[in-house]
Order: sequence, then structure tokens, then C-alpha cells
Amino acid sequence: MQVDYIIVGLGLAGLAFTKELEKNNKSYLVFENHSQNSSMVAGGVYNPVVLKRFTPVWNATEQLAIALPFYEDLEILFKKKYHFKFDIYRIFKSVEEQNNWFMASDNPVLSNYMSTKLINEKHEGILADFGYGKLINTGRIDTKTLLEDYQDYLLDRDLIKYESFQYSELKITENGVEYKGLKASKIVFCEGFGLKNNPFFNELPMQEAKGELITIHAPNLNVDFLIKSALFVFPLGNNLYKVGATFNWKDKTQLPTEEGKNELTTKLESFITVPYKIVEHIAGIRPTVKDRRPLVGKHPKHPNLAVLNGLGTRGVMIAPTVAKALYDHLENGIALDKEISIARFL
Ligand SMILES: Cc1cc2nc3c(=O)[nH]c(=O)nc-3n(C[C@H](O)[C@H](O)[C@H](O)COP(=O)(O)OP(=O)(O)OC[C@H]3O[C@@H](n4cnc5c(N)ncnc54)[C@H](O)[C@@H]3O)c2cc1C
Repeated sequence: MQVDYIIVGLGLAGLAFTKELEKNNKSYLVFENHSQNSSMVAGGVYNPVVLKRFTPVWNATEQLAIALPFYEDLEILFKKKYHFKFDIYRIFKSVEEQNNWFMASDNPVLSNYMSTKLINEKHEGILADFGYGKLINTGRIDTKTLLEDYQDYLLDRDLIKYESFQYSELKITENGVEYKGLKASKIVFCEGFGLKNNPFFNELPMQEAKGELITIHAPNLNVDFLIKSALFVFPLGNNLYKVGATFNWKDKTQLPTEEGKNELTTKLESFITVPYKIVEHIAGIRPTVKDRRPLVGKHPKHPNLAVLNGLGTRGVMIAPTVAKALYDHLENGIALDKEISIARFL
């Protein structure tokens, strides 16, 4: 059997790259072993403003211009809704924060998103003595449902194998690669934190950033926006809310922990006062890089081996842009932006 591409890993990176291949009529086969689950557990929120400092997120406007139509196309393909728009209400902790917000909202890059009005609405069960700053043109992608549907779509067309890719079985040939009898012109590794096991690329500086999330049932919390304070809380419908996320730079497991749950509930109760019940508790590892930029590019010695990774905390916005950049690089020789190219570490 011969394909144009072998893809290892079907999280947001693998999904975005295979869509790029489909757009360009390239054949491919995906290997997926369910060893990582970052894209499955992700909150899926997209937001172009850093809510700690009120500064623009790196290249967010450009990324969103590619990402939103990308997810819309998938909604059309599967006749299902994955994109849920909502405003973000950032709880102010002080007058100083209010001032910082209004100064930042003058920035032309941010003015599309940051409302210049102080929001003083009262909402049952939310402590917000200094009011809120409101972000518009934000929302979330239901990445879990999208990925599940995409896996089924690939399975129906025999384009995915649920097995571990064994690196030791990969042969690098003159014109491409060969893996257990399957020939391909190129292979793209999209393993998320699984990159650590990849002997071709494991020297790239990936850091684990484990995150835990809970889903709560809170019938008295009647909000249709995302609340951001020590954590985010956003509505899922039916009185359910997703709450997250923690950051743990040491734990490499994907297991939810008691410590994580305690951190989430303590922080949640610092700004939400209504009763709630925890109905789900999940965890995953964000594939982050020390300079907070993606890892994209060809292997320095084997140009038919490439990597698409390092989506960090913002995979929803970044994945479609970097998948396109990698495709254009591999097929059309277009140089990668230095900020995303793995050449910066090699
Ligand atoms: C708790 C949490 C909350 C988050 N919230 C958000 C958010 O609100 N917004 C946002 O934009 N981002 C968020 N993220 C980050 C986002 O999830 C990531 O940026 C993105 O999902 C990474 O996608 P990926 O495809 O690179 O990796 P992954 O999703 O980890 O996918 C890699 C895939 O490769 C497979 N794989 C690995 N090794 C092998 C192998 N040898 N053989 C076969 N398959 C293999 C794995 O099983 C996995 O399916 C969050 C992450 C976490 C953990």
C-alpha cells in the first residue's frame, strides 16, 4: 500500500493537518493509540486577549481568521454544531484592574474584542464587587465531539488505524518512508505530549503542563457567558458548567487527582457562592514549549519526516494556521515563520 502521508496522532494538530491534505487531494493514513488526550479534555475556549495582563495573544487575529472558517467547514461536513459563541466576563479585583482594562481596550488590536464599558450587572451567586470587563467575539469549540465525529469519519473510509506507531519499525528510504509494508512520501508526527517517545524529535524542548477540569451542576447559576476569575467557568447547557483549569508542571500523568480537585473547588468558591455538584473530573497534558510557540518543521537530516506540535494552551486557535503553514512548507517550499520553525532549537 502507498499513501502520500502517514500521520501519527489525531488530536487537533492531526485533524488540522489531515484536513489540509484532503483540501489538496493527498492520500493519507492516520495512526492513533489514545495515549494522550489533550484535545479530548480541552475547554476549547478561544480568546484573543491574555486575561491576566490584558495584552493581545500572539497572532490571535490572524489565527482566528483561519480557525473560525475551518471549524465552520467541519460543522457543514458533519451537519453538527461544534462552535458555541459566548462573551467572556472578566471579574475585576480592584479599581486598578478596571483602569488597566480601559487603557488596554484603546489598543487597536484589542478594540474588536474588549468592551469599553464597565459591566456592573448583578448575577446571583457571583462575587464581583468591582464589576466586570466584557470580551466579545469569543467562544469555544466542542473539541471532544468534533474529534469523535472526525475519528468515525476516518474509520468509515479506512483512513485510521487504532494502534501505537512503533518508531523502531520506520524505515527511511530514498523517496520517503516505509512502515510495516506501508509506503509514504512523508510522515508527520502530531503526538502532542507523546512526542517525548519519538526518537526523531524528542530533543525538542517540550514541557508538560498538566491541566485538570471539573464539570459542575449548578441550577442557580443562570449565566450564558464565560466567567473568568481565578478560573474559568462556562455554560454547557442543562445547568452544567465546565470549570478549569489547573496548571501542574511536574506531574506527567493524565489522571485526575484529589489535589487538583481541591484546588479547583477552593478557587471556584472564591467567586461562586451558589451550591453545586461535581459531575465529572478530567485531566490531560498540554504540549507546551518553553518559548510558548509551536513546533513545526522538517527533521534536519531526514526531510520526509516532519513535526506539528507545541500547540500549548491555545490549540483551538493555532492548529489550523500551523497545519497550513506546514503543508505549504512541505509541498510548496514556502519558508516557515522563524517563530514556529523547529530550526530555532536545532
Ligand atoms: C485541561 C486542558 C484544558 C485546555 N483548554 C484549552 C482551551 O480552552 N482552549 C484551547 O485552545 N486549548 C486548550 N487546551 C490545549 C489544547 O488541548 C492543546 O493545545 C491541543 O489539544 C494539543 O493538540 P495536539 O493534537 O497537539 O495533541 P493531543 O491532543 O495530545 O493529540 C496527540 C494525539 O497523538 C496520539 N499519539 C501519541 N503518540 C502516539 C503513537 N506513538 N501512536 C499513535 N498515536 C499517538 C495521542 O493518543 C493523541 O490522540 C487545554 C488542554 C488541557 C490539558
